[in-house]
Amino acid sequence: MEQTCSERSESIRISAKNLGELALPKFCPRCFWIKLRCSHKLPFQIFPGIFSSIDSYTKKITNMHYEQHERVPDWFGGFGSLGKPMKVPHYSKFSVHEPKTNILLTGVPDEILYRPDDSYFIVDYKTSRFTATQDQLLPMYEVQLNAYAYIGKRVGFKPISGLGLIYYEPQTGISADEVDSFILDNGFSMHFSGKLLPIELKPDNIPVLLKRVREIYDLSQPPNQVEGCKDCQLLDTLLSIAG
Ligand code: SF4
Repeated sequence: MEQTCSERSESIRISAKNLGELALPKFCPRCFWIKLRCSHKLPFQIFPGIFSSIDSYTKKITNMHYEQHERVPDWFGGFGSLGKPMKVPHYSKFSVHEPKTNILLTGVPDEILYRPDDSYFIVDYKTSRFTATQDQLLPMYEVQLNAYAYIGKRVGFKPISGLGLIYYEPQTGISADEVDSFILDNGFSMHFSGKLLPIELKPDNIPVLLKRVREIYDLSQPPNQVEGCKDCQLLDTLLSIAG
């Protein structure tokens, strides 16, 4: 009888977003191998909490608006008729184990909307302007959202009929005659404007990427450095200092 991967290999757990790194134009297999072996817990990483606060605030706005008006806010309109925001499962429930590669793929979409046609639409938020840098990250986000679709279908959100990103762009332009409208007793307010980006639905690519994760993880030695990478040169310097 054929042996499954789960019977012969170490299990791997990877998030939808980290899987997306494979699609980046500057993808480095060595960095990915190191991150996989460290469960993506690297030293010297600081993630500012403000972004998750803004994400959570945005979800509250969307949900409260739906409760009051029975529709999502107008800025979602470019995605078509979206219907009702659903309770997004905890990441321990929104996951799928692939026996062929023995990989647990996890994720937490920002929004899952139940459409009037009985299908689901998955949205992820980015608190950022849609700049050239964000454009370069787009292949990673495309995989992230398609991994959500891949998981969603297997945990009961089916069919999935669409995916989209909303960039919440901070509106930092301000003129003297409008400043009073932003001033509060204990601080100030700032507006965010939603920019919509539909993402092509192609979750069938996910197993191919999971296979690539398994191949990289199973290498006994890290792959070679990318030539000219300044970060790796800095790491070499650090290691030589540490002796
Ligand atoms: S070459 Fe750059 S991207 Fe690759 S492992 Fe080194 S630091 Fe990471």
